[in-house]
Amino acid sequence: MNVILKKGKEKSLLRKHPWVFSGAVARFPQGATAGAVVDVVTSAGEFLGRGFYSPNAQLVVRILTFDKAETIDKAFLKNRIATAWAMRANRWDSATHNAVRILHGESDGLPGLIADRFVNVISIQILSAGFEAMRNELIEAFQELFPECSLYERSDTPTRALEGLEERTGPLTQNFNSPLVDVSVDGVRWLVDVEKGQKTGCYLDQVDNWQEVGAICNGADVLDTFCYNGGFTLYALKGGAKSICSIDSSEEAIENVKRNVALNGFDEAKLEVQCADVFAALRKFRDSRRTFDIIILDPPKFADSKGHVERACRAYKDINLLAFKLLRPGGYLATYSCSGSVMPELFQKVVADAALDSKRVVRMERRFMQAPDHPVAMSFPEGLYLKGVLCHVE
Ligand code: SAH
Repeated sequence: MNVILKKGKEKSLLRKHPWVFSGAVARFPQGATAGAVVDVVTSAGEFLGRGFYSPNAQLVVRILTFDKAETIDKAFLKNRIATAWAMRANRWDSATHNAVRILHGESDGLPGLIADRFVNVISIQILSAGFEAMRNELIEAFQELFPECSLYERSDTPTRALEGLEERTGPLTQNFNSPLVDVSVDGVRWLVDVEKGQKTGCYLDQVDNWQEVGAICNGADVLDTFCYNGGFTLYALKGGAKSICSIDSSEEAIENVKRNVALNGFDEAKLEVQCADVFAALRKFRDSRRTFDIIILDPPKFADSKGHVERACRAYKDINLLAFKLLRPGGYLATYSCSGSVMPELFQKVVADAALDSKRVVRMERRFMQAPDHPVAMSFPEGLYLKGVLCHVE
């Protein structure tokens, strides 16, 4: 079954970009249903790529292979997963780093598929009708590649609806026995709940940034906002923070921060938690003139799409401006955005605007991105979604 492109619309596929939008299509295949494997061809009929079809989505085909000889079957899946895992397994020693993203969708050649490994539990997110149709092959592929692991499905994201799929969660293998996994990276431990935690259980995209920011926290009074289960908090304590105030609106997250601080044997007296709205909490600190040496801003995605970028930037400006005002002289702001549609340059400009309005003298020391197990295929720049900057305040 062929998807025929309009004349001149083949350029991005020739550059190995994996997305085909419906506006580029001259003729859709008759009778192909959601999740079918289709070939995308030029107006002259030349093969460009093969991928999953989503007739009702704007993103009408997501390419899996640019090789005409490659069949989309279990062997194909196994090959892609094994390649992705080899990259991670060669990079980190599992004795000191046992929480790793195995698959990062498009950038690992499997658009719409996410898998995170927490010790011997693999948490999987199936986001496309194509992988949904291949779920048995997918489960078998994982079982054959990782016989020591159990599998849990966390396909509970609203984006499934775009593919006509219901949300779905639960164990995928019989050897799954506990949703709570005790993971560790670089000597810091935390508990991941693959059943109830956010996304696949926790966020691994900031692991390097936790370590880097933690390393400048010695002797500092630190504020970790949008802390979730305490990634930055734990590494700040490891780095010798004098005190840490951790804020999240989720009660469960706050309970987990406390539990994780205790799990590591850190001094619990240094920890203050607030289950609160960060926008309001920052204003309270301003009004009560409370200050900090280091502030971390790691909010959730403020912009879901290009249409929300302006509104998102106003929210980023608001919290960054407040944060600059709360910093003591010589302090640091580590500020992030995980909105893919807010480009790094734009985010930096918003932070610069906030710095200007705060009337502080601010210098940027570092730019951050997502951890290496969330790589960005060079042909798929959209894969870079997490960006951040480390600012020093005079
Ligand atoms: N910093 C975390 C990840 C943060 S994810 C880490 O490194 O692992 C974003 C977090 O913000 C979620 O835990 C969510 O519960 C919280 N959140 C969302 N909106 C919020 C708000 N307005 N105030 C406080 N927390 C909020």
